[in-house]
Amino acid sequence: MSPSAARVAVLTSGGDAQAMNAAVRAVVRTVLHAGGEAFGVHEGYDGLAGPEADLRPLGWDDVSRILDRGGTVLGTARSEAFRQREGRRRAAIRLVQNRIDRLVVIGGDGSLTGALRFHDEWPELVADAVEAGELTASQAQQHARLTVLGVPGSIDNDLPGTDVAIGTDSALRQIVDAIDALEATASSHQRTFVVEVMGRNCGYLAAAGAIAGGADYVLVPEAPPEPQWPEQMCELLAAGRSAGRRNSVVVVAEGARDRQGDPITVAAVRALIEDRLGDETRISVPGHVQRGGTPSAGDRITASLLGHAAGRLAATGRRPADAQLLGIRGTEVTIAPLRDALRAAGRIAELSTTGDSAGVRALRGAAFKDLLATSTAMVRALPPARREVTRRIAVLVEGDLAPGMNAAVRALVRLGLPAGVQLLRADGGLLGLTQGRVEPLEWKSVCGWASQAGSQIIAGDAVAVGGAAVVEALQRQAIDGIVILGGWPAFAQAARLEGLGFPVVVLPATIAADVPGSASSVGADSALNWIVTNADRIRHLGTSQVRCVIAETAGRTCGYLPTLTGIAGGAVRVYAPEEDVTADDIRSDARRLADSVGAGQRLGLVVRGEQALGELTTDELCRAFDEGGEGRFTMHQVVPGQTQFGGGPSPADRLLAAQFARCAVVWLTSPMSTGVVVTAIRGGLVEAVPWDEVRGDADLAAGRRTDTWWADLAVISEALSNRPGTSSRLRDEFARSPGGFARSSLVVPAG
Ligand code: ADP
Repeated sequence: MSPSAARVAVLTSGGDAQAMNAAVRAVVRTVLHAGGEAFGVHEGYDGLAGPEADLRPLGWDDVSRILDRGGTVLGTARSEAFRQREGRRRAAIRLVQNRIDRLVVIGGDGSLTGALRFHDEWPELVADAVEAGELTASQAQQHARLTVLGVPGSIDNDLPGTDVAIGTDSALRQIVDAIDALEATASSHQRTFVVEVMGRNCGYLAAAGAIAGGADYVLVPEAPPEPQWPEQMCELLAAGRSAGRRNSVVVVAEGARDRQGDPITVAAVRALIEDRLGDETRISVPGHVQRGGTPSAGDRITASLLGHAAGRLAATGRRPADAQLLGIRGTEVTIAPLRDALRAAGRIAELSTTGDSAGVRALRGAAFKDLLATSTAMVRALPPARREVTRRIAVLVEGDLAPGMNAAVRALVRLGLPAGVQLLRADGGLLGLTQGRVEPLEWKSVCGWASQAGSQIIAGDAVAVGGAAVVEALQRQAIDGIVILGGWPAFAQAARLEGLGFPVVVLPATIAADVPGSASSVGADSALNWIVTNADRIRHLGTSQVRCVIAETAGRTCGYLPTLTGIAGGAVRVYAPEEDVTADDIRSDARRLADSVGAGQRLGLVVRGEQALGELTTDELCRAFDEGGEGRFTMHQVVPGQTQFGGGPSPADRLLAAQFARCAVVWLTSPMSTGVVVTAIRGGLVEAVPWDEVRGDADLAAGRRTDTWWADLAVISEALSNRPGTSSRLRDEFARSPGGFARSSLVVPAG
């Protein structure tokens, strides 16, 4: 390393969260690519401020095989020493003595508050140390300021400035797994379960868990219930039972409070239900299980993107002057002053104590408000006492199945009924609709659908049907509009229905996420998790052999699934359909992997999209790698094939399904509902996007979308899995834009 190489320390602090390891790996490897040196601080701030320093250099192999491990290999702690000025002074001295003045902190708001304080006090701390003779003036001059980059790592997802924190998605999975398991036993015994969910003062996990788990009532801190909530809750639970539900699940956030500010405990909720309804009621507290388990694909991606961005900023010559927080907004990595995010967090805490929940909701942002509205709407969605149907809407499925389709239909039916919308299933797609294969869906018809795989509605094969036949079928069956679930086949059908004078909603549901207008679609997250889990299994076969694993993903002409699989799985190479790859490229990729094996690498994951590489089959790709590797590794294939389309939906997919469904119902019941719209997620928000706008992102003839936002991400996957110097593509990339990657809102403030 050159004497001027950037020296960057990274630590994990506070409550642990799944995928903190993935973030550490990303920071360290990015710093190494940028020509810097990385150091790990162990046991949180204690490794700097405690009696013994624990600060060690981290090399490439020190962060191998941790991408899929929960917890944090650096250790984490709540450090009392760092809360004291003397502890922070010691920390500053130790960093300067190690010639380090760049620090990446992965943790929650407490850890980041500590980081900001350290940043602000740094000049004073260093000056004090000079005065006491513990540092020299020249050392102080060389390290006049501390660069601090915060990476939100907290299952609670309570930090303003990011849509998601590292760990939240995995914690949600643990919660929803618990609710699913409880539902099975509760329904056998017709019991009620009251589930306490973590999140401190933030209701994200409770609200999201309630939607995804199909819970029947939810209490969150941001929406203290009306004074008569006990009656209201019991009425809702009783109404659900008499409508045919065999069990009830109530989700209570650990920070839930009533309007007087008094805590609402699971014990109190149980007592209420037992007293008033006489239901056999049990409490379930998943507790620390919520922090456990392997990190989800979504968390690994969030962690890798944020860690990569932090590593790049920390190692670059253009490091920001003020402390910064990295975050995710929609599909973009963002950077903003850490003090602004912490100020907002402080304001939220203040408003929470004064009971100003409207103020808290406003500060939590639009995506959170939408989540709360969806969770409230879902638990209140009971069969109306008097049925007033103002619209009859057919719901149909076209093309391949995707996990989460049933969850979407369930939410459409449940949210539709109170709004006067009667949903009718049309089996066999648009063709089935014209053939009269139509039946009403009642509230009870969709019981248990939230977690079900596949599609209860029989999918159509996107058979072209004339507009006149559809209009006639709608008139004959008194149907006012159509919701189509699916990927490209759904879009192709919708294109045929334009201008026919009735409302059409396309609800993107495809594992390929290849739909125009929306950043993602229902089903993609489940498929991603499934493929990554399969690749992990080979990884877990151990390192006695050096292995090259070729994973083939679905996704047709779209690179979303292979690229994101690459990041979550730690792929050394991603072949996406958008890229032109020659036989020479493949040979050199294989040789590069062989060279890395020489340098100590034990596993190389290669991901190919099914329609990448033209006619080359995955067998042929394996052979090409086998030959190029000259016996240095054994070849394995992961070809999940049809299994990607099956399986139960992940929590994120169930959530998206409910949010799309709510958006569809709101639009269908609005006076403006004519023409075709797509329920889409853009910039982290769900909205109904008019067809004209979506068309700009669609190449209808080629059946592909034109905005390929994920294309720039493949290079991150490769940077995190290929050693520095092994890839000229990566060398060029880092030389071209040392401080950030090509397309993101990552703008480095002047420093
Ligand atoms: P989290 O990061 O999960 O919110 P904590 O609130 O426990 O967790 O904070 C973790 C650690 O961060 C604390 O143990 C302490 O070392 C440090 N810290 C938190 N707040 C401050 C502060 N105001 N000043 C200095 N250090 C702090």
